[in-house]
Amino acid sequence: MSELWQHTAGQLSALLGTGEVSAVDVTESVLERLRSVEDDVKAFITITEDEAKAKARKVDEMRSAGEDPGPIAGVPVALKDIFVTKGIRSTAASKILENYVPGYSSTAAARCDAAGLPLLGKTNLDEFAMGSSTENSAYFETRNPWNLSKVPGGSSGGSAAAVASGQAVWALGTDTGGSIRQPAALCGVVGVKPTYGLVSRYGMIAFASSLDQAGPFTRDVRDAALLLDAIAGQDPKDATSLPIDHPSYAASLEGGVDGMRIGVVKELAGEGLQEGVKIRFDEAVSVLEKLGAEIGEVSLPSFEYGIDVYYLIAPAEASSNLARYDGVRYGLRVDGEDIVQMNSKTRAAGFGPEVKRRIMLGTYSLSAGYYDQYYGKAQKARTLIIRDFERAYGEFDLLVSPTSPTTAFGFGERTDDPLTMYLSDICNVPTSLAGAAAISVPCGLAPEDQMPVGIQIMAKALDEPTMFRAAYAFEQSFRGRDSQIFPELVSR
Ligand code: GLN
Repeated sequence: MSELWQHTAGQLSALLGTGEVSAVDVTESVLERLRSVEDDVKAFITITEDEAKAKARKVDEMRSAGEDPGPIAGVPVALKDIFVTKGIRSTAASKILENYVPGYSSTAAARCDAAGLPLLGKTNLDEFAMGSSTENSAYFETRNPWNLSKVPGGSSGGSAAAVASGQAVWALGTDTGGSIRQPAALCGVVGVKPTYGLVSRYGMIAFASSLDQAGPFTRDVRDAALLLDAIAGQDPKDATSLPIDHPSYAASLEGGVDGMRIGVVKELAGEGLQEGVKIRFDEAVSVLEKLGAEIGEVSLPSFEYGIDVYYLIAPAEASSNLARYDGVRYGLRVDGEDIVQMNSKTRAAGFGPEVKRRIMLGTYSLSAGYYDQYYGKAQKARTLIIRDFERAYGEFDLLVSPTSPTTAFGFGERTDDPLTMYLSDICNVPTSLAGAAAISVPCGLAPEDQMPVGIQIMAKALDEPTMFRAAYAFEQSFRGRDSQIFPELVSR
């Protein structure tokens, strides 16, 4: 392989460790790639070229002074612009935070920095992570590197597109109801939604606090394990972060799937799938079977309510979280005659239409008189979903489904119809509601449109090691069939 930006983080770490290349070389190569395709892809809201180079120099200096900067130091990273970063504008792709420069860093960003990862920039997203296409960004649309006339998925579309196009070796996103897994699938990269509480939410601009979770986008499964190792772990600044010593995920890759029981989720793997998605998913399952997994079908009837439950709970939490943008403490302020008018003018000007829709939905379902009927019922149905998972995991080690029912769609195709857009997440929301873990791994291109398809491998809470083992085994045997890791950036 010729250019440094084309290497995986695992490969680069090895080269950096032996001193064959410097962190500055790697960072320069990635930055050059970033600049050369950014006009086409538009993955970044803010590019932090100077910070990246300064950090790379620091890592090199440590190495030449005989200090150990850590196993992955010097591999540049991009962060979804929902992680606040000290001294670097952090917008959540909203006008209301257009000029917000935080005075502190999120724990995930701080841990990337502590691991020695030069920060390339902050990537585009749907405003406050509300969406499935990145079309809800208040700034611009990000394009899918596999076909520039299609969306990259969302809400972490910028991070997914940046990794797919080689503008970043790896990136972080957040997943509330699919926002890592779905764009990973649509852009042909690996994406992990870790167990709720595994990665600190401190400094992640909040959308739905009982669901939000950070995770990696990478080019292969090993890189995802490496990056998760760097960011996971308890954080005293986040009371919901789990007080556990997590195992090394990078050390959990080997072992294969021989004898593993893998359940195909009937409700997510049958009707309503695009034909090419079904073809690639069925093939992926047969690969796992050939590798020795015991495949069975499993029905989780409550999944039928997944979207309804998610779109009551997530907006309810969002309506409460977003109350803090009042024109007083953060970002935008539009003056009015009194505080009420100022508050209302600020929010009217600062929030986009999807965010307003969510605030209204959430406020309604939480209001006295409707609470039991909507929010309370949704919480009960959430419990049913958790119980269905428990039953399934009594029988199976892992569950699988396609990550997304379709491949990437065209710009504007779903924007007029929120319900169709919401259905994009149908395969992803059950895991989020259960607080469990899932990974999306590329499993080829759909024959009809030559766009990437992903298989979603779901695991019970904290069983990331088993999830990584299966994902790695699948990827190893699947590789080579799909040599085109970097798409050519052409509009078709
Ligand atoms: N697409 C879903 C939504 O719009 C999920 C978003 C996310 O995971 N952040 O809410």
